[in-house]
Amino acid sequence: MSTAIITEAKIPHYIDGQWVESNAREWSEIVNPATGESLGKVPISDAAEVTKAIDAAAAAYPAWRRTPPEDRIQPLFKLKVLLEDHLDDISRLITQENGKTFTEAKAEMRRAIENVEVACGIPVMMQGYNLEDVARGIDEMMIRQPLGVTAAIVPFNFPGMIAFWFLPYAIATGNTFILKPSERVPLTMRYVYELIEKTGLPKGVVNLVNGGKVAVDTLIDDPRVRAISFVGSTPVARYIYARSGEKGKRAQCQGGAKNPVIVLPDADMQMATQIISDSAFGCAGQRCLAVSVAVTIGEAQKTFRDAIAESAAKLRVGNGLEDGVQMGPVITKQSKERIESLIGVGEKQGAKVLVDGRNPKIPRHERGNFVKPTILDGVPASSELSHTEIFGPVLSMVHANDMDEALAFLERNPYGNQASLFTSSGAAARRFRYEAPAGNIGINIGVAAPMAYFPFSGWKDSFFGIMHGQGRDSVEFYTEKKVVVERWAKEHSRKF
Ligand code: NAD
Repeated sequence: MSTAIITEAKIPHYIDGQWVESNAREWSEIVNPATGESLGKVPISDAAEVTKAIDAAAAAYPAWRRTPPEDRIQPLFKLKVLLEDHLDDISRLITQENGKTFTEAKAEMRRAIENVEVACGIPVMMQGYNLEDVARGIDEMMIRQPLGVTAAIVPFNFPGMIAFWFLPYAIATGNTFILKPSERVPLTMRYVYELIEKTGLPKGVVNLVNGGKVAVDTLIDDPRVRAISFVGSTPVARYIYARSGEKGKRAQCQGGAKNPVIVLPDADMQMATQIISDSAFGCAGQRCLAVSVAVTIGEAQKTFRDAIAESAAKLRVGNGLEDGVQMGPVITKQSKERIESLIGVGEKQGAKVLVDGRNPKIPRHERGNFVKPTILDGVPASSELSHTEIFGPVLSMVHANDMDEALAFLERNPYGNQASLFTSSGAAARRFRYEAPAGNIGINIGVAAPMAYFPFSGWKDSFFGIMHGQGRDSVEFYTEKKVVVERWAKEHSRKF
C-alpha cells in the first residue's frame, strides 16, 4: 500500500460554503504520530473567526428549516456514496494523522457512514404524535421543530467517526451546524468537508472551524448557538456542560472512561483472550470503549492472565499504513510519556509489569510515539490507578473472589462508559446486565459500541446530559417539542 503523506501547509476553515484562510496568530503543528513528520499547521482561531461561522449558520437557518425533510436528506444520500467512494483515501488520512491502523480507520468510517444512513430516516424519526378529542371537538398534537444553530466539539481518537454522531442528525432535523475538530487531527474533516461540498447542501448549513478553547468558548457563549455536543476528556466535558448550562443551552457531553471486563472461569478462554486483546490494544488503547482493567474471578486469574500475556507480547506494532501491523502509535510524545509514567505508578502501587511495552524500538520509526502492549498484573483493587484513565495500550489485571466483589469494584469506578463480562452462564450474564453500573454493556463482547440506531449511552463521569448521541436520542436532542391544542367551531365548517 502507498505510504505517501498527504500534507497541507495551512488548514482553512469552511464557512458559508467557502474555504476561508485563517488569519489566526497562533498555529499548531499537525504531526504524524508514527513518523514524527509534520503534516501541516492548524489555526488556533480567535473569537472573530468563529463568530463568522455562527453568522453563516444563523443566516442559513430560516431557509433550511423550511426545506422539507425529504429534501433535507437528499444530500445525505449523496454523502453516503461519496464517503464510500473515498473510503480508502479518508482512512489513509486517519492513519496518517491519528496513528491507528488502516484497517481500524476503515472500520471507523463504516460507523460514520452508518450514522448517515440512519439520519436518512428523519422523515419518519422526526414525526410527533397526536390525539383527537382530548376534549369534545378539541385535538392535540406534538410536533418537533429544529433548534437553530448547533455545534459539536470532537476529540482526536476518531477523526472521522465522531463528527458523524452529530452532523447528519443535526442537519436532517433542520438545524444548521458547526464542527470544531480536534486540533491534533484536523485533516480528516478537512477532506470530508470537501466531499460534503459536493452534496449540494446550501451554503452555511454546515461549517467547519479549527481551534482550541477560545473557539469552544465562543460557540458556547454565543446565544445563537442553541445546542452543544462534546466528546473528549472528562474535565473538559464537565467544564463545557457547566458553561453551557450557565448560558441556558442544552448540551450532551461525553467524557473519559476506564472500562472494566469481568472474566469468569467458565468463559471460553480462547475467544475471551482474542476479543479482550483486541479491545485493550486495538487503536493503541485509545478507544473510549477500550477495555482497560480485567477483573478475573477464580481460576481465570491464571488461565486468562497467561493467555492474554502471550497474545499481547505477539502483537505487531508499527506504522499503521504498513501491511501486517496490528497496532499503531499513541497520539503525541506527551501521551507516550504520560502512559509510560502511569505504568511506573502501577509498579509502585504493587503491580507486576507482566508484559512491558515501554520504550520499544520500532525499526525505521525512531521518532514515532510507540508504546507496545503492556500488562500490569495484580493491580490492587483499592489503588487509584485501578480507576485512572490511562488511554494507552495498557491492561490492568485485578483479582476478585466472586461476582459480588467484582461488581463492588465496578461501583467504585467513577466512569461508566462500558462494562463487559465473559462467561458461558446465562444467569451470570443476566445478573451482570441488570447490575453493572455502566451505560454500554458487553456480554462476550469487547467493544460494545452501539450501532447508529442505538444511543451511545455512557453513564457517571463518562457522560453529562440526558440525550445521548446517535439514533432516536439525537432526534430528541436536536428538536424542540411543540404541543398544539386545537378547536374549530362547527359553525365554521358549515359555511363551506
Ligand atoms: P480533549 O478533552 O483533550 O479534547 C476534546 C476536544 O475539546 C478537542 O476538540 C479540544 O480542542 C477541545 N478542548 C480541549 N481542552 C479544552 C478546554 N479547556 N476548553 C474547551 N475545549 C477544549 O480530549 P482528547 O484528548 O482529544 O480525546 C481523548 C479523550 O476523549 C479521552 O478521555 C477519551 O476517553 C474521550 N473520549 C470519550 C468518548 C465517549 O464516547 N465517551 C469517545 C471518544 C473519546
